[in-house]
Amino acid sequence: MRRLILVLGDQLDARSAALDGFDPARDAIQMTEAAEEATYLAQHKKRLVLFFAAMRHFAEGQRAEGRTVLYRRVDDPGAPGTLADSLRRAVADHAPEEILCVEPGDWRVRAALDAAAPIRWLEDRHFLSTPAEWLAMGAGRKRFILEDFYREMRRRTGWLLDEAGQPLGGAWNFDKENRKSFGPDGPGFTPGRPDAPDDAITREVVRMVEARFPDAPGSAVGFAEPVTRAQALAHLADFVAHRLCGFGDHQDAIAMGEPTLWHSRLSAALNLKLISPREVCEAALAAYAEGRAPLNAVEGFVRQILGWREFARGVYVGLGPSYLDRNELGATAEPPRFLWTAETDMACIRDAVGQLQREAYAHHIQRLMVLGLFLMLWGANPRRAHDWHMALFVDAIDWVSAPNVIGMSQHADGGVMGTKPYCASGAYIDRMSDCCRSCRYDPKQATGPKACPFTTLYWDFLDRRAARFRGNMRMKMQLANLDRKSPEDRAAIRRAADALRERIG
Ligand code: FAD
Ligand code: SF4
Repeated sequence: MRRLILVLGDQLDARSAALDGFDPARDAIQMTEAAEEATYLAQHKKRLVLFFAAMRHFAEGQRAEGRTVLYRRVDDPGAPGTLADSLRRAVADHAPEEILCVEPGDWRVRAALDAAAPIRWLEDRHFLSTPAEWLAMGAGRKRFILEDFYREMRRRTGWLLDEAGQPLGGAWNFDKENRKSFGPDGPGFTPGRPDAPDDAITREVVRMVEARFPDAPGSAVGFAEPVTRAQALAHLADFVAHRLCGFGDHQDAIAMGEPTLWHSRLSAALNLKLISPREVCEAALAAYAEGRAPLNAVEGFVRQILGWREFARGVYVGLGPSYLDRNELGATAEPPRFLWTAETDMACIRDAVGQLQREAYAHHIQRLMVLGLFLMLWGANPRRAHDWHMALFVDAIDWVSAPNVIGMSQHADGGVMGTKPYCASGAYIDRMSDCCRSCRYDPKQATGPKACPFTTLYWDFLDRRAARFRGNMRMKMQLANLDRKSPEDRAAIRRAADALRERIG
């Protein structure tokens, strides 16, 4: 064998650099459904189905191109338990002249494979930027934030710029327009998202996962993620036709029982590399050019991918494996059990976790301003929060989950992903959702029997961290509001927070 090409479960890109110059007579692809990858953390059944079904479809596609695929199924008798074991066996069996693999999006996997055999690592051309470029853009700057990176990426791509290189609509972002809530009547009609057609391969994987991983969280039933490139392209087309037009206005809104709203639900397909960020953005840009979607929606959507997604990868790769252990706020608590079970009387959390159990998905504001916010106010250890996230979300891959959880939502990286913590009281959730209307708590109250846990923990968080955040101009208003509280009120809030921790800890 000339080349053994490792294709990992999140590298299902037929245009990958690892497949360049593939010689069917002398090269082979190796793909492994490793039990360790499915169990090193408890993982949602839909997440397991996603990976296994997409991998099996990809292998079929490669075989149809006349390529040899050494495919190890997790349910094969004597299947290798780990990616490293599988690689060692292939090396023993085939003695390849070289082993190729695209850089993994998980430091743990990279270390395990490096320890198993010498590998020629290749740049992942799925992305619109490289980690080296991210580092170079930030080098020498006192401050390097998403907005700096995003503007540079807009200039590089020329997307949404006029002939003079200025942003269309006269602004680089339309955040202010994109913060509408739904109001008392709720979102009204929402288009929903299509189910991906389930075929024999996916059905077999659903049955296998239910049988082999019965204790994994969630259910595999109702699996609807795209697992082939064709399905992913169909989902993209559906989003552009039906939901992109509303993506901007209500980007930050939450409605109970409405998981999709105007979101694309393309993250899993993107992260498995079934579709590329370029083609997703170009589809949105074409919709704008043809007058099918407004600028605030298209810019908002492009910013998530060209900006945040690329920035997160730069952070993960650029800052190295130690990023995973960052804990700037010294948070040590275990994430509370109700984040697995949904057994809580907090309506916003019950709705988001219940949805997670069913769909393995929550949209961005549920992640950031409900689940992530609670974890931060609770004082959860950021690495444990990240583990919880990796377990339950269908689209979680280390490179994108870690910066978002550890950095953006827990503010444990000290300001790389965000210059201030995303901290808010129940009043924010009340403003942006309909959750509080059916909740037994009152978002305005920080103490007393109806005190909203978010509100209690918010003031307690500010009170305990005030000294740390005094120098941060973006925290000035929140701290000024804290300063207006009397010493008695602050003491009462501390007692309420302690009692709350005692009660639900
Ligand atoms: P849309 O709202 O339709 O957005 C379009 C696309 O933009 C997404 O598909 C995604 O590819 C990209 N995107 C948007 N925001 C981000 C972001 N902050 N970072 C990276 N990409 C972004 N995204 C993941 O793909 N995997 C994760 O594990 C993940 N974990 C997150 C954890 C937390 C605490 C937070 C706050 C965000 C996380 N995100 C993650 C980012 C974002 O919430 C999801 O990408 C998005 O909710 C996925 O749903 P969607 O495809 O409907 O996205
Ligand atoms: Fe959530 Fe508090 Fe609102 Fe209840 S009152 S839904 S706990 S924010």
